[in-house]
Amino acid sequence: MICTSHSFQPVDFSEKQIIELLNGTQDPWLFDQAKLVSQQVFNNQVFIRGIVEFSNNCRHNCHYCGLRSSNRKVERYRLSTTEILDAVDEVALLGIETVVLQSGDDWQYRAETIAELIRTIKDRHNLAITLSLGDRKHQELKLWREAGADRYLLKMETFNRRLFRQCRPNANFDERLTRLSYIQSLGYQTGSGVITDLPGMSDEILANDILKLSSMGLDMLACGPFVAHSQTPFAQHSNGSVLKSHRVSAILRLLNPGAHIPATSSLDVIEPGARELALIRGCNVVMPSFTPAHVYARYNIYPGKNSATCQMQQRIALIFKKIQHHGLKPNPSRGDSKRNQYVP
Ligand code: SAM
Ligand code: SF4
Repeated sequence: MICTSHSFQPVDFSEKQIIELLNGTQDPWLFDQAKLVSQQVFNNQVFIRGIVEFSNNCRHNCHYCGLRSSNRKVERYRLSTTEILDAVDEVALLGIETVVLQSGDDWQYRAETIAELIRTIKDRHNLAITLSLGDRKHQELKLWREAGADRYLLKMETFNRRLFRQCRPNANFDERLTRLSYIQSLGYQTGSGVITDLPGMSDEILANDILKLSSMGLDMLACGPFVAHSQTPFAQHSNGSVLKSHRVSAILRLLNPGAHIPATSSLDVIEPGARELALIRGCNVVMPSFTPAHVYARYNIYPGKNSATCQMQQRIALIFKKIQHHGLKPNPSRGDSKRNQYVP
């Protein structure tokens, strides 16, 4: 296998080579190369994004997610605009220059309400805004871009049509894929991604997901392991493998040197410390939660998510310490996409 990563050009792996890498045949080489490329491209820096999870209501019913509409055991919440703005103020106060607004697919927030929220944030702060609001209509996505939103994250979870249908009943594969392209065409810095080890996912499917993700010219690529939630149809399945997820982020890094790749909290839920380890295996972003304390634990997409008992400032300080422990530098600046600097 030839690696051209020293020149920071994307490498070119075949499906067969990716499957070999997913099986760990070249782990030390893979992780060393991914570390080298991230260190050189991002100068040892890890970008910090503050995430505000403002509603746990969802009209979808994904078989893997604790927020699914059929789950009657969730204590649902919706933050008011004022509460969301207060949380965004906290992000800005700490000097973090990107806020991620995330929720279940909650249509109770009307398009104009979100647009006004975006305008107010832009008036108050010099922040990049990432939206992760799921499947919304084209005109809504356009309105929010015009209101000033900078980025949109819409994970396909898998690009395999059959597996997608098995995991996301009633969700439309083609519409989600079209929506993703539309988001890109609007000029959003665009992210997508996969859940590794979803029940039913083979290495062939995962390898093709990696190739598809890498062919789309995306600015952000997210991968994190499946975590089984007891209140979902996938309760009896095993948690995903941390090592497999690390391999995926490392392969994605070699294929997409300039893309932002977050180290997800699902890694840490399965194995404490795994999120920080991902930062020396290809990832370069962490997204601590700024969801207010009174609803923080209710954003329970998987067990262990938002389970820390200490205060938000302490949590952030701890994350900074862990990043520094690996010889990396936390960087709170907006950190726009570098993708265009590293295309073949
Ligand atoms: N509702 C929006 C959507 O699905 O695009 C955004 C919010 S959703 C909670 C954010 C992400 O959580 C999803 O893209 C999915 O990858 C992840 N997620 C949900 N349940 C999960 C689980 N059990 N294990 C791992 N990741 C999960
Ligand atoms: Fe809803 Fe997103 Fe959870 Fe699916 S993953 S149930 S769309 S919050």
